[in-house]
Amino acid sequence: MRWVTNFSQGDKSQKDLLGGKGANLAEMTNLGLPVPPGFTISTEACRAYLQAGGEPEGLGEEITEHLRGLERRMGRTLGDAHDPLLVSVRSGAKFSMPGMMETVLNIGLNDRSVRGLAEQSGNPRFAQDSYRRLLQMFGATVLGVDAERFSELLDRAKADKGTDSDLDLDADDLERLVEQFKQVIAEHGGREFPQEPGEQLELAVRAVFDSWNTPRARLYRRQERIPEDLGTAVNVQTMVFGNFGMDSGSGVAFTRDPATGSHGVYGDYLANAQGEDVVAGIRNTVALADFARLDPRSYDQLMEIMATLERHYRDMCDIEFTVERGTLWMLQTRVGKRTPEAAFRIGSSMRDEGLVDADEQLRRVTGDQLASLMFPRFDSSAERRLVARGMNASPGAAVGKVVFDSPTAVQWTERGEQVILLRKETNPDDLAGMMVAQGILTSRGGKTSHAAVVARGMGRTCVCGAESLDVDAAAREARVRDGGVLREGDVISIDGATGEVFLGDVPVVDSLVVRHFEGDETVGDPEQDAGADVVQAVSQVMAHADVRRRLQVRANADTGEDAARARRFGAEGIGLCRTEHMFLGDRRELVERLIVAEDEETQQAALDALLPLQRRDFVDILEAMDGLPVTIRLIDPPLHEFLPDFTDLAVEVAVAAERGEVDEHRSRLLEHVRRLHEQNPMLGLRGVRLGIAIPGLFVMQARAIVEAAADRVAAGGTPLPEIMVPLVASVRELEVVRRQILAVAEEVQTARGVRVDVQVGTMIELPRAAFLADRIARSADFFSFGTNDLTQMAWGFSRDDVESAFFARYFDHGIFDVSPFESLDTLGVGGMVEMGTVKGRSTKPDLKVGVCGEHGGDPASIHFFHRTGLDYVSCSPFRVPVARLEAGRAAVLDQP
Ligand code: ADP
Ligand code: MG
Ligand code: MG
Repeated sequence: MRWVTNFSQGDKSQKDLLGGKGANLAEMTNLGLPVPPGFTISTEACRAYLQAGGEPEGLGEEITEHLRGLERRMGRTLGDAHDPLLVSVRSGAKFSMPGMMETVLNIGLNDRSVRGLAEQSGNPRFAQDSYRRLLQMFGATVLGVDAERFSELLDRAKADKGTDSDLDLDADDLERLVEQFKQVIAEHGGREFPQEPGEQLELAVRAVFDSWNTPRARLYRRQERIPEDLGTAVNVQTMVFGNFGMDSGSGVAFTRDPATGSHGVYGDYLANAQGEDVVAGIRNTVALADFARLDPRSYDQLMEIMATLERHYRDMCDIEFTVERGTLWMLQTRVGKRTPEAAFRIGSSMRDEGLVDADEQLRRVTGDQLASLMFPRFDSSAERRLVARGMNASPGAAVGKVVFDSPTAVQWTERGEQVILLRKETNPDDLAGMMVAQGILTSRGGKTSHAAVVARGMGRTCVCGAESLDVDAAAREARVRDGGVLREGDVISIDGATGEVFLGDVPVVDSLVVRHFEGDETVGDPEQDAGADVVQAVSQVMAHADVRRRLQVRANADTGEDAARARRFGAEGIGLCRTEHMFLGDRRELVERLIVAEDEETQQAALDALLPLQRRDFVDILEAMDGLPVTIRLIDPPLHEFLPDFTDLAVEVAVAAERGEVDEHRSRLLEHVRRLHEQNPMLGLRGVRLGIAIPGLFVMQARAIVEAAADRVAAGGTPLPEIMVPLVASVRELEVVRRQILAVAEEVQTARGVRVDVQVGTMIELPRAAFLADRIARSADFFSFGTNDLTQMAWGFSRDDVESAFFARYFDHGIFDVSPFESLDTLGVGGMVEMGTVKGRSTKPDLKVGVCGEHGGDPASIHFFHRTGLDYVSCSPFRVPVARLEAGRAAVLDQP
């Protein structure tokens, strides 16, 4: 068999092939749990189908064969006129994509078998209800009929009956709906509803395959960085019926609270309901505690199964179940999505319970989760006006203007506003708005609702089920309980950790985790703060990450203050201190003087004036990082960046000339600005080329660095400066400036009578440098990959020009899954990093190799740098804890 696997043959390790849903259905089947039998059509079949634009050879036969097997086992035939077997056709990719793809229930019903089902079950209402659901789902998903057409008819039927509950519709009402639905399909679906069960199945399978490529599924994958080429599996499963009557129902549950991570099951149940009803907000669900009263036997069994699953998966699980006339059936499980706070709490309590060890605890939290715990939270001591309270579905402190629909959210964000998307409840069509909103607020639904699940997945702040809000999306307003009205554009603040909604812009304060990193010792005390156990969990995981990681973590910092903060956050040095900002502000004038200088003397005078200023900057940083290496990059950007804009200056000089007030300096400056104008500044006079073109410049900087170090030695410190030359392409370039730097270093040390440990190294940020790294290493004490420029130079595009110009198209075509500026292009740019490292170390086996630039703080890139054997990554001070955590995870994930 090539394409299809029975549930009894698979297991949870086969997510690549069977998708998450299929693999876990197989796992539960083999654990002996009550799972309706079925089979899984593999992701391989989907990939083959999408590539060829049709079923691959043998697939049809294999499906038929498995269907016959299922029919024999169940003793019924699909769509039989008297006692029909019905199945669901369910999508399920490797990574869960909640609500993004399609599922069709009750396949096998038609005008004849619906009567068979009615007779056989003695429940005509149930039979008609199942048939209208099939028509609805099949019509929308397979035949592309607008789902609203069906829901409108359903609403009208309820209105005619004077009710707003679908339960009040009887068999006759539903039969009428069935007729109407068939008509809608014939009119808008391009064909009659297929009566033949085999054809229903075939078309549904195709529709699931095709749903991989719907725009919303693509958007979701891009957001979640799920590769485009995985495809989805399709599960064909015997139906069980929660819509049989009040002794039946459908539910969802988590084995722990997914919002806080605290112990105790959490879930919703809806009697006489099928499938998604429970999360769609059509009727009010009940909590699991009430389910215990409704059906104690099924409840007890459910609790036992949840305990089994949690022990088996050694993690929090999320499940779907259905009760059919008092019998419990398991329809889905997976390791559940959770908030960052819950992730840290669950990890630490599972370690206490002996379910996981320290390595596993570390594997299960991510740098992104840690980063979101470092976001600010609302200041509880500020004056706040509470207007509603809902469920704390996904944490964060979000402030923005209220909008009532997804397109408005997108439009307003594009013009630079921050918005909160307020909906009754969300559905997959709201995805674009949910992605751009600061936070999501709904008036209905619980922690398992679409809004909550998707927001948690995206790490977006969400408060759901704020029932006191009466949302009128058409009027663009919501009434609040005290009689007030929230209108579109009003500013509100929502607290995803407490579920509170405030009017206006509530001020924020540092998170507890940040205060902990800052060294505030009062935050670890559970008496003081409810979040203290999360801080303890974070600190436990960080300690283990530090033990495990091989990569060192440094920070990019240009001031003593930033350096000091980075050090408190655990930085082990500075990987990149940019010196260009030291030429800005009131120092600009000195740079201008340097550039317009026409003889060496004036030039030297300008440099001499800059020297003491530079020295002071370096003293501060070396002091903050005393005893740790500080990599200082000599000036890199093109000089015209420090000069006035050409047009502005030209106008200024012309106007002055008109008035007869000629300013010598400004006129000469204008000439130089014109001279220095470049077609491609990124490829122009910058980096080491500057050092060679204006010989005194690098020497002045080197002098300032070594003098600062000498000052630090005199003050009893241990400065470890590393002077870094940017944009080197040839070993000769480096040799020329290195000789000058070492000469001035020697001169300063002799003059001051101290020895300083000074290293001179280079950035590797040009392809040529990576190719010739073995030669360049001869003159370098260290390498630092400037992956930002290396990315630009490798792809041949400048970031500022291309990102807004065509990146969106590149995402659409799947050329990028993620921007190469956000996460390292490991194949291309990463290949150069690898080559540069190997070649550099072939010359100098213990050459220190690091990376500076934003990639140093990106989790996926950090894992790559770990595998490549770099010594350190460097990132912004605030990212340092994230990088420490991910470097530790990279080490434990790397183990066999
Ligand atoms: P999703 O991936 O969007 O959760 P599912 O494939 O899980 O979609 O199915 C949608 C709903 O239908 C779920 O509530 C699921 O439990 C229910 N369902 C799927 N298959 C069956 C079945 N064979 N019997 C009863 N309910 C089913
Ligand atoms: Mg599901
Ligand atoms: Mg650079």
